[in-house]
Amino acid sequence: MSSQIRHTTAELQAMDAAHYLHPFTDHKDLGARGARIIERAQGVYLWDSEGNQILDGMAGLWCVNIGYGRTELAEVAYKQMLELPYYNSFFQCANPPAVQLAKAIAEIAPAHMNHVFFTGSGSESNDTVLRMVRRYWDLKGKPGKKTIISRINGYHGSTVAGASLGGMSVMHEQGDLPIPGIVHIPQPYWYGEGGDMDPEEFGLWAARQLEAKIEELGEDKVAAFIAEPIQGAGGVIIPPSTYWPEIKRILAKYDILLVVDEVICGFGRTGEWFGSQYFDLKPDLMPIAKGMTSGYLPMGGVIVGDRVANTLIEHGGEFFHGYTYSGHPVAAAVGLENLRILREEKIVDYVKQEAAPYLQSKIASLAEHRLVGEVRGVGLLGAIELVKNKATRERFAEKGSTGTLCRDLCVRNGLVMRAVGDTLIMSPPLVIKPEEIDELVAKAWRCLDLAAEQLGV
Ligand code: PMP
Repeated sequence: MSSQIRHTTAELQAMDAAHYLHPFTDHKDLGARGARIIERAQGVYLWDSEGNQILDGMAGLWCVNIGYGRTELAEVAYKQMLELPYYNSFFQCANPPAVQLAKAIAEIAPAHMNHVFFTGSGSESNDTVLRMVRRYWDLKGKPGKKTIISRINGYHGSTVAGASLGGMSVMHEQGDLPIPGIVHIPQPYWYGEGGDMDPEEFGLWAARQLEAKIEELGEDKVAAFIAEPIQGAGGVIIPPSTYWPEIKRILAKYDILLVVDEVICGFGRTGEWFGSQYFDLKPDLMPIAKGMTSGYLPMGGVIVGDRVANTLIEHGGEFFHGYTYSGHPVAAAVGLENLRILREEKIVDYVKQEAAPYLQSKIASLAEHRLVGEVRGVGLLGAIELVKNKATRERFAEKGSTGTLCRDLCVRNGLVMRAVGDTLIMSPPLVIKPEEIDELVAKAWRCLDLAAEQLGV
């Protein structure tokens, strides 16, 4: 008998409320409303247990890059499970898919990055980052270089190290975080925090906060700077054009490592393989996850540049770090097949040449809506700022309520977008077709209209 029994929506919601504690959820509120049960998916569409078809403008959680329903991934997982469902990579062992995936990732990574440390998620990848940069400086004979500089409102995961590296104050408040040795500088969020400065001026100001922090702490105490190329969970915050060049200038002056968190931007989201290539960055470490398997199985990793990898290898001595599922053979086989599809179907080129220019030109038109203060995007990432007053960027009174209203209207009308405060964000599968982009934008416009009506604007 199969372990999978069919239940009605009401039965599933009751069991869910009785037994299932969801991530990032107000459990009282969820119990009162009942969870939306997503049952199946194909291409860019989801279907819930009530039969509603919903366009997934978030690619799951920024991860289903090749879209839903690719049977090739199911087939390689099935074959690999029969052949070798699990074996560890501790004790001088390896398995073929993990080795092949490490090589394939090195091929698409920037030229100076040739090694991968496998993990099970983006959070675990950033825990690995914390431990690996400290190990690196220990091996370099500089054990005092421990502090990692990160950014307010960055997101690097939800484990203790991940949430500490991240700069989400609500997360810090709930766990006495950050842990020692992690400090945060302001984010390059011009629309929200730029005040009277123009974007370029503000970008320089925000970047120079890094220099000020290094000077304050002393270079001999600073191990690394970590940042997302574009902040995702923080609200698709695209730094002004001056930001990354100024960060590069500062990093060239000091001997500290650059960690670029590619968990969202990696595997084609910006129209390049990695966000680092989009912004011309030379990271020492790149945490990855999500698009690595298009979310079909959980897997993450850290792509390690030659400077750090060669130090670990040449110095020797055990690095006491790793996970049971590091290099999991089934996840690796799925990752490898996902990468084959991305490459052979030239999906990253499709994003750059067709999908991104089309999506960006279409969503730009949403800026004309009376609720919208700014629309911005790069690749297949987009953000819509909701405001009461376009000229002054003034928000509606109850922070986040307009975002939530629009998000709920969207999902009721067949579109998933996410709300971060009063910013609507999108990150659809990379394979989204032009006519599906038209549908996404038409639905978004309609939901903005409905929201404006409800708000009496
Ligand atoms: N880093 C970034 C940039 C992310 O966006 C996320 C997840 N949204 C993570 C790390 C954490 O990944 P995970 O949820 O797989 O632990």
